[in-house]
Order: sequence, then structure tokens, then C-alpha cells
Amino acid sequence: MPKDYSKLIRKLISLDSKKVDKYFHSLHKKEFDKINCLECANCCKTLGPLLTDKDISRLSKHLKLKSSVFVEKYLRIDEDNDYVFKSMPCPFLQADNYCLVYDFRPKACKDYPHTDRKNILGILDICIKNTEICPAVENIFKELDTKNCI
Ligand code: SF4
Ligand code: SF4
Repeated sequence: MPKDYSKLIRKLISLDSKKVDKYFHSLHKKEFDKINCLECANCCKTLGPLLTDKDISRLSKHLKLKSSVFVEKYLRIDEDNDYVFKSMPCPFLQADNYCLVYDFRPKACKDYPHTDRKNILGILDICIKNTEICPAVENIFKELDTKNCI
């Protein structure tokens, strides 16, 4: 059962957007200074990133495949009409949780879990969903909620 953050959310949306960003960015840094993503890889195991045309072109080139072959081999179109991986865990996730295409990975992978983005209030619903996927996001919300630091 996901934790109920409704009280915290009400408080956050009553605040200035820049102030909310400041809280999140500082806690994001604190969490990612201590967390080892290689011991987790939950995002790569469960969430499919969307792939832009640029991502497809960069990855195809790196893998020495034609874009059309790359698409055929690895991707499908989802209900939002975006390219996503055909199956999860991600086909490029290795047994030791390293990403086989790390330097060429999709932008969505680089940006995940988005808690260092500008205008967090605009993606609050996504962040709340991510509390169930990403332990760093869960800790950010727990800290904001339990320590009453805002
Ligand atoms: S789910 Fe979060 S902590 Fe886990 S690997 Fe992804 S970004 Fe890192
Ligand atoms: S491309 Fe790499 S970073 Fe992105 S989901 Fe796959 S394994 Fe994870």
C-alpha cells in the first residue's frame, strides 16, 4: 500500500515553486551522494524509459545497427505513441546492474528520477509515483514528511 503523502502535497502546493525546487534539489543531492544505484537498478528493471528519435539514432550508431533494425529488435510503441523497450528489465541491463550502453543511454534514463529538475510542482504526481520505484525519491518524501522541515 503506497504511503499517503496528501498532507505533505497540500503543503507543497501552497508554497512558492522556487522554494519547493530548493528543498527537493538539496535532498536529491543528499540522497544521491549516499545511494549506490548499482545496488538497486530498480528503474532499469521496472520502468521503461521513452526513447526519442535522437536516442534511437545515438544508440543505433553505437550498436552499429540501422535505426530501423534497432527499432525492430528492441522497441515498441506504447499507448502514448512513444517508443519504449519491448520488454523489461531493460535489454541493456547486465547481471551486475551495469548499463551496457551507459554513455549512450536515453535521455529519460539520464534524467531519472527527475527530483533535480526545475518546477518540481509541475511533476509532483510523477515524483509521488516514483516513491514506489526509487528508494532515493522515497527518502526525499519521507524526510520532507516526517522531519517537518518545510
Ligand atoms: S531506482 Fe533510483 S536509486 Fe535505484 S537505480 Fe534507479 S535512480 Fe538509482
Ligand atoms: S538503457 Fe541503461 S540506464 Fe536506461 S534503462 Fe536500460 S540499463 Fe537502465
